[in-house]
Amino acid sequence: MADMAANCTSCGECVRPCSFLQHQGTPLTIAQQGATDRNLLAAYGCSLCGLCDAVCPEGLSPSDMLLGMRQEAATRGLTDLKKYAPWLNYEKLGASLFFRRDLIPTGCTTVFFPGCSLPGTRPDAVLELFKRLRLMEPTAGLVLDCCGKISHDLGLTDHFTALFGRLSKRLRHKGITRILTACPGCSKILRNHGEEFDVTSIYEVLAACTAPSRPASPLKVVTIHDPCPARFDPAQQAAVRQLVQSCGYRIEELPSHGTTTRCCGQGGMVEGCVTSTIKQESGVIAAEAAGRPVISSCASCSDSITTATPAGHVVDLLFSKTDFSAKPVSSARRWLNRLKLRCARLT
Ligand code: SF4
Ligand code: SF4
Repeated sequence: MADMAANCTSCGECVRPCSFLQHQGTPLTIAQQGATDRNLLAAYGCSLCGLCDAVCPEGLSPSDMLLGMRQEAATRGLTDLKKYAPWLNYEKLGASLFFRRDLIPTGCTTVFFPGCSLPGTRPDAVLELFKRLRLMEPTAGLVLDCCGKISHDLGLTDHFTALFGRLSKRLRHKGITRILTACPGCSKILRNHGEEFDVTSIYEVLAACTAPSRPASPLKVVTIHDPCPARFDPAQQAAVRQLVQSCGYRIEELPSHGTTTRCCGQGGMVEGCVTSTIKQESGVIAAEAAGRPVISSCASCSDSITTATPAGHVVDLLFSKTDFSAKPVSSARRWLNRLKLRCARLT
């Protein structure tokens, strides 16, 4: 807060694209209000999307300040955990022995870590990705677990540290040095907190051995939604585009893409504080897409956007599922899908 109070010029660049800041005022205003209980709790209305960081001409990070405010609120016991129980229970169950799995063969140093959303919505694609990886790296392993992003983003630092510490210690003890992710949220968490690991998205690995592009059909046009956690990850963004083009699609970019991509409305569990953000934010993305299917590398983003306009995941294109009218997968079905993966026969 002190850094923001000293350096924010209130230029308004970050306020223009952000409904949260339009309501709260510039980051300088927020910082000047200080660490009152009310001000700290207001930070739960920010999706932690990082768009403000991308546009700030002073190189400031309002999103870091707002995460710090959440952490302070949680430390003071102000955070209403009951409100976030559905997310916290999802994280707890996903990290439990019922859904965790380590398939780490002898000599394995690289594992595929698909996260929670992709296994819940597309278990067959996870298996297919793993199969393709195994063709390239026969000793690659598979780890099903939770990276702890929910606790992290809610500011529950102790809980996140315990959860992430358990995961990283286990992988370290098993000799893992490289982690391939499918979820951009996991990538960001693992990179920022698991410095000992080389973290790369599986899309980059696949793109590196995929022909640059097939001739695009004029009828197959899609747009790309870059997930917020991949905002500052040009390698992942480029790999996703290469994979989409390799399936014969022509990409027409959204006005908001790359570093200035917009949140789908699910970031930071903001719906626990401000309901209807998914409808509102995905509606903005849908308006930019203007009827063209929206492809993302985040299964949660795809789910949000599909409530407003046809959307899909890059793996849908890779595995020839091009019906963009699919509805979000129900919660019960997600758990069954994850159980299916947990129990799938793999060697
Ligand atoms: S992180 Fe996103 S929602 Fe939060 S203040 Fe910045 S632009 Fe707004
Ligand atoms: S863009 Fe940077 S300097 Fe301008 S109001 Fe936002 S935080 Fe302050």
